[in-house]
Amino acid sequence: MKRLNGVRLPHTKRIEEKPLTPFPLPALVRIPMLMHTGSPCKPTVSAGDSVAVGQCIGAAEKPDSVPVHASVSGTVTAISEYRTVSEENVPCIEIRPDGKQTVSGDCVPPEINTKEDLIRAAKESGCVGLSGAGDLTFRKLEDAGKPDLLILNGAECEHYLAVDGRLMTESPSDIINGALMLMKLLKIKETRIGIRSDRPVAVKRMAEACEGQKGIRIIPLPAVYPQGAEKVLVFHTCGRVIPEKQTAADIGVLVLNVATCAFLYRYSQTGIPLVERAVTVAGTAVRKPCNLLVPVGTPVRDLLEYTACDEDIIGDLLCGSTMMGEKIKLEDAVIIRQQNGLTAMRRRKLVQRASDCIRCGSCMRACPMNLMPMELNRAFYRQDIRALQTGKLRLCMNCGCCSYVCPAKRPVADINQQAKKILPAD
Ligand code: SF4
Ligand code: SF4
Repeated sequence: MKRLNGVRLPHTKRIEEKPLTPFPLPALVRIPMLMHTGSPCKPTVSAGDSVAVGQCIGAAEKPDSVPVHASVSGTVTAISEYRTVSEENVPCIEIRPDGKQTVSGDCVPPEINTKEDLIRAAKESGCVGLSGAGDLTFRKLEDAGKPDLLILNGAECEHYLAVDGRLMTESPSDIINGALMLMKLLKIKETRIGIRSDRPVAVKRMAEACEGQKGIRIIPLPAVYPQGAEKVLVFHTCGRVIPEKQTAADIGVLVLNVATCAFLYRYSQTGIPLVERAVTVAGTAVRKPCNLLVPVGTPVRDLLEYTACDEDIIGDLLCGSTMMGEKIKLEDAVIIRQQNGLTAMRRRKLVQRASDCIRCGSCMRACPMNLMPMELNRAFYRQDIRALQTGKLRLCMNCGCCSYVCPAKRPVADINQQAKKILPAD
């Protein structure tokens, strides 16, 4: 099978070997009412109320929303405002932990016997895609129709991210049990789990966990970024192509992240909603990188202090990692539900400025979608919509490979993102 292009990123073995460690309870958590793609939730508690872990504190009033739950037990101190990475102001519930971590009586294992039960459970648990996207899992299950293949994404292809690798190494049975549950309820006969081939321990532990399980296969993926992008992952795990303007669901495939799958299984056993996040804290400004289990709403500043990161040397602070992560501001940032990484990069002494395109073709050779990124850039400058359409701009998944390899340091991927805005709606 032909392999799609991409780029080789530096290997971060040092972080991959660090076990997942519980983060000490912070002095205050701030839980935003929007930590998913869709509409924000409405607070259901007021200042002065006592709350328990797993208690619903934000109601999902609109259909494109899932509830938000308390990640700590304690007292609500205020309902303030939070500015999300997409620059939206949403309500935010501040809770002072009491240190007891009392679990709410509402947390009981749900009855899950049918696909409808599973969709309801995914919604009530506040489950979102845990690879960083924050898409609504219940919607994905609804839209999946009748898939014949489940693909679990264990690619974790960006450098500075290692929590999925740790999950596969430390708790592989939760992922496999989750896959078996999904296969049974959705009547799927086959599951393929894509894992980067340069993570031999994770591959081995997962292979051991699924030994004897009919229909589950581990597929080692090339150690090239972006293996985790849906189109690339689907092609490399089963050879199917997702056509332009279509999704995996259109070709009979349900794609979930390994962490999302493990979470759904754990929720089915405990009834504890999504209140804790596994996060890799790393980057060139972090002296003690590590993999942490963090209550949702923990201030980013607390994590930087814990990992010996000097705030004064930070240039970029990212939710996620350097290729597809989103820049955040230190002042009020907190760990959100879909966040798998916190990356702090040193301020660069010399900022290289972009120069003219030398037409070297490197961006074209790196593009996993076989696009011609520099030609798309030129079409955008000309505002040539037809050229953008024939150049298949819509296939661009903003992976950043083109910008990464460009010797002229041109923001090729960013320009293509701007170009998408001038395309007419489908
Ligand atoms: S054009 Fe789009 S898909 Fe291709 S490398 Fe650039 S960002 Fe990635
Ligand atoms: S990699 Fe940069 S310099 Fe080379 S063709 Fe692409 S945009 Fe031009």
